[in-house]
Amino acid sequence: MRNQRDAVNILYANSSGGIVISFIASCGLVFGFPNEKIEAYKTIWLAVMTVVLLARSIDWIVWKKYLSDTSFDPTTVTRRFVAGSMLTALVWSSFSLLFYAMDIIELSSTIIILAAMAGGATTVLSANRKLSIFYSSVLLVPASSVLAFSSQDFQQVLGYLGLMFSLVMIFSAIKASEFTSRAVKINNENADLLLQMENEKQAVQEANSNLEEKVKQRTEKIYELSNIDPLTGLFNRKAFLTDLNVFFADALKNNFSIGLLFIDLDGFKQINDTLGHTIGDKVLQLTAERIAKTVGNKQKICRWGGDEFLVVLPDLEADKASQFASSLVGCISEPFHFDNNHLSVSATVGIAMYPEHTVDADEIIRLADTAMFVQKKTQKSSVRMFSQDMKEALSREQTLKDGLALAIDHKQFHMNYQPIINSETGKVVTYEALLRWRFQDESVGPDEFIPIAEQYGSINIVGSWVLQQACQDIAQKFPESDCGVSINVSVIQLMQPNFLSVINHALKESNLAPSRVHLEITESVFAENLSLLKFQIQQVQNLGVRVSIDDFGTGFSSLSHLQNLGVNTVKIDRSFIRDFDKGGQAIIQATLHIAKQLGCEVVAEGVETEEQYQCLSSLGVKFLQGYYFAKPKTLDVLPSEPGETDERKRIQANHA
Ligand code: C2E
Ligand code: MG
Ligand code: MG
Repeated sequence: MRNQRDAVNILYANSSGGIVISFIASCGLVFGFPNEKIEAYKTIWLAVMTVVLLARSIDWIVWKKYLSDTSFDPTTVTRRFVAGSMLTALVWSSFSLLFYAMDIIELSSTIIILAAMAGGATTVLSANRKLSIFYSSVLLVPASSVLAFSSQDFQQVLGYLGLMFSLVMIFSAIKASEFTSRAVKINNENADLLLQMENEKQAVQEANSNLEEKVKQRTEKIYELSNIDPLTGLFNRKAFLTDLNVFFADALKNNFSIGLLFIDLDGFKQINDTLGHTIGDKVLQLTAERIAKTVGNKQKICRWGGDEFLVVLPDLEADKASQFASSLVGCISEPFHFDNNHLSVSATVGIAMYPEHTVDADEIIRLADTAMFVQKKTQKSSVRMFSQDMKEALSREQTLKDGLALAIDHKQFHMNYQPIINSETGKVVTYEALLRWRFQDESVGPDEFIPIAEQYGSINIVGSWVLQQACQDIAQKFPESDCGVSINVSVIQLMQPNFLSVINHALKESNLAPSRVHLEITESVFAENLSLLKFQIQQVQNLGVRVSIDDFGTGFSSLSHLQNLGVNTVKIDRSFIRDFDKGGQAIIQATLHIAKQLGCEVVAEGVETEEQYQCLSSLGVKFLQGYYFAKPKTLDVLPSEPGETDERKRIQANHA
């Protein structure tokens, strides 16, 4: 089809010249040889030829204007062209047949013109073999044949010459058309090849661009995997540290400060443990969104660990960083509402400053973490700026923690005993066992190391050792007496499932009667499971051991605890005795009143003066303890008959 269309285009492209030449040649033949006899016929012939040529010209214009550049159907257009050309050939042929009785010059000229036209046709019409052969033959063969059979010699000669020329032209038309059709075919094949090449090139380009896109996507994915936390979409540790170093370099160049916030969520563990990880994850995502919104730039935030986030605040002084951190705490603490859940977490934030505290990226994170850690122990949901003494405190804590793990093996613990006196008789009823630790040539106080032992888990081993030692000491020192021993027990220790067997073991080993043992519980650590605490106390009491609430009125202890836990004794904290005149008296009276209602004994600790002793006695506090009577002492210096010794009198004698 395409070859056919190209052939038609060649025919039409060549035909305009052919039409013009045909018109000029016909005018030449008609007007070049005037002959009055046949002039009218010649004019008619010219008119016919002109009409045919005009029709062909119109056809050419139509092709040129509407078809040449389109994918037209070549069959009908070919038919039209062939019809026009054949008509022209027939009109030409008719000229020589109609007017062949010419003189020799006119006839020769006519034959020459027709031969020239036939010759031209072999080239001009070579795109259509049949037409080309037809045109060349029709123009000359009829006239030449007629002339060849003429009686006149010159006509015969012209006839034979015409016929021979026709044969040559037919041959030449065949050759030319073969050449043209091959050229068209090759041309189209080339075009096809070019198109194919173009398509292939485009396909390769597309494949390349797809490949580039894929490589780009993969690179982004790899970047994400290695730099972005998948849950929150924030930077992970690695990416954040890289960026932090860039911020530091910038700060060094432009001489500005940087604040680093270490954010640790408060209450997140409970959500995760009680509501499950899906809700926990959602809370983390929403928290990350809030932080990102407040900071305004995700590039400055990192998810450091489980519920820990970091924020870098470039070009910000310490006071502004603290203000920002406080607003962040406020924002994080707003309740979350999603999927019918109404939850809230809060956050404790530690801040360290560049270059004030350090110029090292790893170090600044550690320092901010330290500040957060210290603050979390004192007051959650708040902000703390790092300070050097904090670092020292933490390093001491670390040293003590490590030391505690080896203290029993290294025999660094020993017990001190401080009496509790019956204010009515002045006799010692119980000795409170107080743990002492000699560590690196220093005496470390229990107020310092017990919380560390509680925090890092060594309290259970230490507490078991104390229980055994205290029971054994008192049993050996006062084998015949009913003098008791008060042993301090941490809530963490008491809540251990094996606590009962520990105390049983201590009683069995020491052979001390359970009624001579008191456990003093301080709620320095809040007991989350109060019913379990109550159960454990009950179990202990079932053994015959009595239980006291120590430091009553401080920490987490409260009047409701007193009622719920069913303890035997309340030890009023020494701060109320010290501040007796500043409200302490009222609290002591209230405690006495409630204790009486609940059937509890009351002990007042920290009695340091005669005046305090008198006041407490007059209020009716039956049991007293404090430096006024005796300081804690080692076992070997205790009197062998506790009931016989009136410590108070001895101290009075010493004073005198
Ligand atoms: P606590 O149980 O309230 O012990 C009383 C603390 O007050 C003792 O301090 C004692 O020395 C001190 N004290 C006694 N009378 C006075 C006084 O008149 N004035 C003043 N200012 N202080 C007085 P210590 O031995 O330093 O013990 C501190 C805390 O450490 C104890 O408070 C107790 O809670 C804890 N603790 C001591 N030993 C142990 C133990 O073996 N296990 C546990 N879990 N905690 C212990
Ligand atoms: Mg105590
Ligand atoms: Mg106490």
